[in-house]
Amino acid sequence: MQKEKDCSSLNPSLTRRTFLQATGALASAAMVSEVFIKSSEAAPAILTGQNPSDTIETADDILYTVCQMCHSRCGVRAKVKEGILVKLDGNPYHPNNLDVAEDYTPARLPYGTSPSAAFKSIGRMCLKGQSGIQTVYDPYRIQHPLKRVGSRNSGRWQTISWEQAFREIADRINLLIPPGDRDKLIDPSRPELGTKRNQLAFAPGRSVEKEMSERVWKLGWGTVNHTLDHTSICEATRHVANELITWDPKGSHNSLGGGRIEGWQADILGSQYIIFFGANPCEADFPMVGMARDLMQFKRNGGKFVAVDPRFNNTAARANQWVPIIPGTDAALAMGMISWILENRAYKTPYLENTSKAAADLDGEPTWTDATYLVGTFADSERRQFQRYVTVRDVFGIADDGPVVWHPTNGLQAAAAAQHGTLDFETILTIGGKSVTAKTAFRLLSQAAGSMTRQQYSTICGISVATMESLAREFVSHGRKAAAMSYRGPVKHTNGLYNHLAIQHLNTLIGNYDYKGGCTAGAGGWNHKSGIVELGKITGGKSVSGVRIDRAKTFYNAVEVKNLFTGYPARRPWFPFAIHGNFQEIIPGIQDGYPYPIKVLITYWNAWPYSVPGGRKVWEATVADEAKLPLLVAISPVIGEVAAWADYILPDTVYLEKFSAPGVPWRVNKGTSFQRPVVGAFDGKKIGVSAASGGVGNTMPTAGKNDYSPALPDTKSVLDIHIGLAKALGLPGVGDGALLGPIVPGSSELVTRGHLHNSWDWAKAILANLGYNAATDKYPGLSIEEILSKGGVFDNPGEEYTGMYQGHTGEYLTHRYGDIIRFFADPIARTRDSVTGQYYSGVPHYEAPKHSDGASISDTSYTYRLITYKLVNHGQGRTNINPWLMLVMPENFVEISAADAAGLQIETGDLVKVTSASNTNGITGKARVTQGLRPGVIAISHHYGHWEQHSRPHNIDGKPTLYDASRGAGIQATQLMRADARYPNVSLQEPIGASCSFYDTWVKIAKA
Ligand code: SF4
Repeated sequence: MQKEKDCSSLNPSLTRRTFLQATGALASAAMVSEVFIKSSEAAPAILTGQNPSDTIETADDILYTVCQMCHSRCGVRAKVKEGILVKLDGNPYHPNNLDVAEDYTPARLPYGTSPSAAFKSIGRMCLKGQSGIQTVYDPYRIQHPLKRVGSRNSGRWQTISWEQAFREIADRINLLIPPGDRDKLIDPSRPELGTKRNQLAFAPGRSVEKEMSERVWKLGWGTVNHTLDHTSICEATRHVANELITWDPKGSHNSLGGGRIEGWQADILGSQYIIFFGANPCEADFPMVGMARDLMQFKRNGGKFVAVDPRFNNTAARANQWVPIIPGTDAALAMGMISWILENRAYKTPYLENTSKAAADLDGEPTWTDATYLVGTFADSERRQFQRYVTVRDVFGIADDGPVVWHPTNGLQAAAAAQHGTLDFETILTIGGKSVTAKTAFRLLSQAAGSMTRQQYSTICGISVATMESLAREFVSHGRKAAAMSYRGPVKHTNGLYNHLAIQHLNTLIGNYDYKGGCTAGAGGWNHKSGIVELGKITGGKSVSGVRIDRAKTFYNAVEVKNLFTGYPARRPWFPFAIHGNFQEIIPGIQDGYPYPIKVLITYWNAWPYSVPGGRKVWEATVADEAKLPLLVAISPVIGEVAAWADYILPDTVYLEKFSAPGVPWRVNKGTSFQRPVVGAFDGKKIGVSAASGGVGNTMPTAGKNDYSPALPDTKSVLDIHIGLAKALGLPGVGDGALLGPIVPGSSELVTRGHLHNSWDWAKAILANLGYNAATDKYPGLSIEEILSKGGVFDNPGEEYTGMYQGHTGEYLTHRYGDIIRFFADPIARTRDSVTGQYYSGVPHYEAPKHSDGASISDTSYTYRLITYKLVNHGQGRTNINPWLMLVMPENFVEISAADAAGLQIETGDLVKVTSASNTNGITGKARVTQGLRPGVIAISHHYGHWEQHSRPHNIDGKPTLYDASRGAGIQATQLMRADARYPNVSLQEPIGASCSFYDTWVKIAKA
């Protein structure tokens, strides 16, 4: 049923228009402008992005920190007057917030600019970022630790002290997993499960404080379930695909090695032509603010970009071309483009023929590929065929597992010894006395691309052959200054890994990695984890072992989990390549007690039942049963969908009251930000209040106890909560002398470097490391005070490119990946799926979305494909608490194409019901009829339809709490999403990278 709307609690004095005028963020404002205002009516600040600084502010009013209203991690310039946070803008030193001016000159401040000269400079920030003030001053935030007094989810709570909270939680943990039992095996007949320490799990939805949580729960407690984070509901499969492309057989992620790089992004400002597949940089990709602005400059520079997306989103609205693809068919379009590129020999042959770094260096190429490496088809002991690289050992019988190439003059050679190999080649080899067909990785790709005609690809993806070919033709016509990018659109399908591989290898064919205008792996930042203090080292630490509750990073076979291997299908699926975990499998695993029961679950920044496809039903059925989950502790600033079911809620601070050192995501500029509290007090002295008035101003003290008190003084930052729990449990790694560091930099001999009693102790360690490493590398003499006064350490504008590499002139990125790019994903080709028992393909191809057992998703009476999307005015599921952002669009809609709506006689504003095979009761919302959606597709935005987050009353200490029903406005589509046929308590999922599927659900729509 549609929820009753109550907007009475929203700030009535601030209209949509005045808020937009106040933002001064071109990217964000422009994205919503066509909906609410005409650009001719907009204030100059909106058109230029030049938000004039306040004439009464002084340098002392400005503090720099980091935004976390979405995951872009922009720099924040916070203005604080008399201890009150009054305005948030972008940090002008930070690469996300200022890049180039319209005349293409650097606009970002050089790092050497003094803070007193910089304080009138304002970086750009989106409307979500500016609304962060309302996250701090949210009147509904929990103010004290809460203990459940009714049954779970009864909404009845009692306030308790922190001391009581820590003591009682520790007592419960000690009872459930007694200290004397912790090192005993969960099941002596299945030692692979590990010890009972693994029955405590820490599940952060998102976290930028992993060094601390790993210190406490991995090293201090010793659970393999120390970081069950959210990435699989975001983009995990994209990461894993990129890691397969950059695979290091000697890596450390699992027994087959590991990936070097998890993400590629276009160097937008240096490029000429970009195709975005299911990526929405003007609205939702990250870092959105930097990318959106770069893209507008890119257009002014004459660049062209294409948006491949079923929905006409704000990126499509500014694109040169919108390509409304059928959801889940991106690989068909990309493979069709690859087939045209191969057929027309429009790839970079010399680049692809290089076999090693030495060969690439001779050509001035920063990267090389496996295109010439031979891949053999072998048979296992059950005569099942699989593929893997042919090795030197196979061919020459010497102890070398390196790859082999063929050259017309030199014949078979180790790739490391050869300069060049033949690209398109196959042969029969005798290996181990058996005939083995061996083909180059390039030929495998070519055959995969040629397995269908372009007309067949066109029929699958709904894009004409002419468009497919013209995209390919244009893509190869810009040298290295073109890029094909993908994000959640192609990836959040059961076939997402192959969708991404196909798209990414468009880049490989033109060899654009590390080139200006091509693909960047990001410039990275300076190390804050070691140098002076080793954040990941403790005295008396545990080593973890065993299987995770989500079965990530473990191979399901008789070698790795001998006593758990029961043939195919496995009782629940396993995910050996899920390097980023499997968030959607946590609660189903707990529900099934597979592979073992979990006794304690501690969550942080986690909205599992809201965010996971089909998650609410499974969550409620699982956590309502205290036998299945005896203790649930939520670390959260509000009573959200997870915390509502908790036994204890530990009230966390919000991001403007925290410490961390987030990197700058996927920019060509190097940098590490420093996140610090901008409200609250140190040792009772208020931040933002001058020293003369008893405060600490915009500085951070380094003497004294330096205990940080947040704006709500009886809340604690998550760092302090981890430390408090660790102390209550008597874990090592916290307390007096707990911080260790090398006796001299670089030494392996560790000595005590300080105490760890609170978050500021931790922050000082981070700053010491960051300062030392950045000073050693780039800025000699850099002080901690300088880092704090600029919000981190950043390189200078203008340092993005270099004209020389290995003695060759060219247009290169300054910060390069500089290693191998692989067409053939050898590790997965040697691995059997835990459900079907089939070997995975090692090369990209198109396959239809399917259930885990391989059955097609044939919900025949459901005729529309459901997609979701993110809006520029919201970040994930947490910004419904910000009234300004809800005012921009108070509820969301069921979007339907005009063509489909006409047939169903649906008009904008009609109440419509959307149902799926997994949710026949469905959800009801308001229709919005649009020309901007491919017919056959229904689109519902994320962010809305919360049922907690203070959208309903709870009862604390016998009194009903205030609430704001407008926080629960709108509808939430994840509850419609398709369950897997074989494992019905989990959604459809991509089996290799472990992303859950968001876009493979078929729905019906009818007037309600
Ligand atoms: S893009 Fe994200 S991180 Fe940047 S200002 Fe907006 S909400 Fe904050």
